[in-house]
Amino acid sequence: MKCSQDDEFSQGQLSRYGNIELSPSAGVLNYGQGLFEGLKAYRKVNGSGLLVFRPEENARRMQIGADRMCMPAPSVDQFVDAVKQTVLANKRWIPPPGKGSLYVRPLLLGSGPVLGLAPASEYTFLVYAAPVGNYFKEGLEPINLIVEDETFRASPGGTGGVKTITNYAPVLKAQLQAKKKGFTDILFLDSEDKKYLEEASSCNIFILKNGVLSTPSTRGTILAGITRGSIIEIARDLGYQVEERLVSVEELFDAEEVFTTGTAVVVAPVSSITYRGQRYKYNCGGDAVSRRLYKALVAIQIGQVEDKKGWTAEMD
Ligand code: PMP
Repeated sequence: MKCSQDDEFSQGQLSRYGNIELSPSAGVLNYGQGLFEGLKAYRKVNGSGLLVFRPEENARRMQIGADRMCMPAPSVDQFVDAVKQTVLANKRWIPPPGKGSLYVRPLLLGSGPVLGLAPASEYTFLVYAAPVGNYFKEGLEPINLIVEDETFRASPGGTGGVKTITNYAPVLKAQLQAKKKGFTDILFLDSEDKKYLEEASSCNIFILKNGVLSTPSTRGTILAGITRGSIIEIARDLGYQVEERLVSVEELFDAEEVFTTGTAVVVAPVSSITYRGQRYKYNCGGDAVSRRLYKALVAIQIGQVEDKKGWTAEMD
């Protein structure tokens, strides 16, 4: 779908996956006007059918991001319809329940030419998809993180709170270095005080201490994950106290559990976190709260339990 700066997106159409043409002076290539989203389509465990988890939330998040990046956005209906058409067109590639899902990637780009610094003259919204297994090579096995205290992902007033493509390349070097040292991912601190937990490179973080779950508040510097919001609700429904607040890095020293959440990782228990050369270990066993929350969330996503919250969208 395409539109100009002050216009609305018109109806798009399905086309075979392939290269897209862009002018060398496209806004996205020169000034980074680009946003993306990530969703998953699952085969229903009981009977036939395909479910996508909370696509309206991704649509709204794209609209907030588009406003920040000075771009027009598709309406919620246009977004959800494009996701649906893409999922249905790729139905045969979706793995059986429990074996994976179809990862769906909407992109919003400043595709029109612009030379001096200004918003692009034209925008493109497109959706593509690919079948995926578990995100981490360890699958559902616990992951290990290292706290990154030299590279910062976001600063107050910046774009950490929106899913702009420009947030991700600055993370790659630190992430690669951490992987070379054997860590699964990095955990970022805030750039002002350098002591509050923010998020990992593509997922949010929770800690469990004295039976209470805490997750960093979204102060415009971290992405308000849709999985994060869903886990907060599920945990409260299961009777856990959940706090959204500033979480100091020192709280990692005596936390009982740590886990990350995101569309790709779903819920990933963290076995250890290394901070300034010291390694802190956490409960990831069969009795871990993270595993209970994982099961409760996945049961909704694959239609194993009744979706009382109306979170899943039927695709066919
Ligand atoms: N933080 C960042 C930086 C991310 O890229 C993602 C993935 N979208 C998340 C958190 C988790 O968000 P969600 O649960 O909506 O996938």
